[in-house]
Amino acid sequence: KTVLVTGISGFVATHVALRFLENGWNVRGTVRSDDKAKKVAELPCFKPFSKQLSFTIVKDLVSGDFTEAVKDVDAVAHTASPFHMAGKDWHKDYKGPAVEGTKNVLEAAAKVPSVKHVVVTSSFASIGDFSKPATEQKGKTYTEEDWNPLTNDYCESLKSDDPTAGGTWYTASKKFAELAAWDIAKNASFKLSTICPPMIFGPPIHYVSSLDALNTSSAAVYALMKPDGSSAKEIPDTQFPAYADVRDVATAHYETVARDLEGRYLICNGAYDNQHIVDLIRKEFPEIKDRTAEGKPGEYLDDKVFRLDASKSKKDLGIKYYSFDDCFKDTIKQLLVIEKQE
Ligand code: NDP
Repeated sequence: KTVLVTGISGFVATHVALRFLENGWNVRGTVRSDDKAKKVAELPCFKPFSKQLSFTIVKDLVSGDFTEAVKDVDAVAHTASPFHMAGKDWHKDYKGPAVEGTKNVLEAAAKVPSVKHVVVTSSFASIGDFSKPATEQKGKTYTEEDWNPLTNDYCESLKSDDPTAGGTWYTASKKFAELAAWDIAKNASFKLSTICPPMIFGPPIHYVSSLDALNTSSAAVYALMKPDGSSAKEIPDTQFPAYADVRDVATAHYETVARDLEGRYLICNGAYDNQHIVDLIRKEFPEIKDRTAEGKPGEYLDDKVFRLDASKSKKDLGIKYYSFDDCFKDTIKQLLVIEKQE
């Protein structure tokens, strides 16, 4: 069987592709250039699976044509989407690639009878209400029934110099992309599952050109342990205090396809905060202790914020979930590997 993974150069997509490969599937990945294809093919994690892995170039999610990419595949994992908060334009930087991109991929898939299942990497961004801080939502438990209340009109009204614009537009882009996917699935012959994780951590094993070009969530961990002394001053506030391990996110993508399950899946390993990560770094990686700020050891947000109910994923998909320590130890170990290669 063959699955198309869009944006296979990304942090999450690399793990998603790996999970399919490990389970004997062929993977066709889309990348934006030949050069990227070469870099991805050379990744150590993909080496044992080189015979199962191929690439198709699609230069852009919006203007690109996915007809060739979806040809004869059995399933599609659509993960490509911009994840950063630095954009200045709702349409060009977020809504276009996320929403039009999702339509472009799924409409191409809907024309191919061999495609039986599509899984979309959505996000907790499409579920949560981010207009109030997490600490003001103590007692709230989010489930797959919840939707981010943001409206398109609100996104249109935000000015690019508003400091909340990038974050708001990103979360809205995920909500409207997921809604677009459900809309297309209504009239398509494939089944649709959407995977909704909060901040995703775990080993960044994808192609990273330099530490300055780390994906957004891995960069948030690296910001706590920078070698230039900048992390030693203070611990930044935690914006989204819930996390998922990228390996569990990858398993969720694979299992919804393998079990042909339709629906939304909230994937969450638990609450986290930057103080907890720093405490772990100082205990488990004493050689880089001085790079971190001490903060207030042991003072965590844990039960002071909203909760995410991931019970459906445990029941339907059999996910066991990595522990906090294993997730962040493996993240930090891999960040140090990348650092050595620089
Ligand atoms: P990355 O930045 O590592 O990966 C993003 C991928 O999307 C890359 O392959 C990138 O290609 C591709 N991409 C972005 N914009 C375009 C475009 N205009 N045209 C074609 N390809 C494009 O991010 P993540 O792996 O973290 O994110 C992957 C998915 O997971 C996203 O859908 C994101 O919303 C979702 N997600 C991520 C979370 C996290 O904490 N990391 C949390 C919840 C959801 P290129 O390499 O060429 O730039």
